[in-house]
Amino acid sequence: TGKLFIVPTPIGNLGDITNRALTVLKNVDLIIAEDTRVTKYLLSNYSIKKDVISFHNYNEKDKTKLIIDKLKQEINIALVSDAGTPLINDPGYFLVSECKKVNIDVVPLPGPCALITALSGSGMTTDKFSFLGFFPQKKINRTKILNEIAQCPFTTIFYESPHRIMNTVTDIHNVLDGERYIVLARELTKKFESIKRLKSKDVINWLNSDENNKKGEFVLLIEGYQGKEDDNFDIPDRVKRTFNILKSQCS
Ligand code: SAM
Repeated sequence: TGKLFIVPTPIGNLGDITNRALTVLKNVDLIIAEDTRVTKYLLSNYSIKKDVISFHNYNEKDKTKLIIDKLKQEINIALVSDAGTPLINDPGYFLVSECKKVNIDVVPLPGPCALITALSGSGMTTDKFSFLGFFPQKKINRTKILNEIAQCPFTTIFYESPHRIMNTVTDIHNVLDGERYIVLARELTKKFESIKRLKSKDVINWLNSDENNKKGEFVLLIEGYQGKEDDNFDIPDRVKRTFNILKSQCS
């Protein structure tokens, strides 16, 4: 059978594509892409002429069968998204999981990914971290997720859009301790890249201090909970909650 290559592409700076990615894109029989226009523009920069067909969230399930049939006919295919690593908050999961079921070789290439780029330049703990995708939009889910990470000792990473960044940092400030550090990694690898590390109580002022600070693409990192002297992590949260309720009833 043919192989399915997972090919990361730049997240802003066209120089950030590997030699191997270019070789694969030149040599495959077909490229499947989130937005064919974006990918054709990218390919034209490297003088690559190749058939590109669309493969996005809305047609992934329908197209998967067709793609697997092509792979079975020994056609080599590269999956790319508009930017960064396919499958990371981008289409491809269903296709890869179906390929695995029928033993088609999936070959993932390392390359650009906004969350890893942000983490490596953030100054936050990198040995353990969790990536939770886009920050939830519904109020109830936003509060729930912030309560869940309030005592998480690892760095938590989210993707966020410029339209919601202000609301999101406000919610973080309201739920978490104002002393907690937040990093806003904006426009990574691009002309106006900035990686700002601030206490949650200062982030809102920083965003308001210049309209440009709110523009562009964001990765949002929240410092892990540093712990307090009277914390006892051996006690499960469930028990601590019950204890706190009892305490408040007694006082
Ligand atoms: N697959 C991509 C990756 O590997 O990072 C992520 C795709 S997701 C649909 C797009 C989101 O990633 C943006 O809304 C933003 O939160 C983040 N992102 C992508 N490029 C970025 C950049 N250059 N700077 C900061 N964040 C970026």
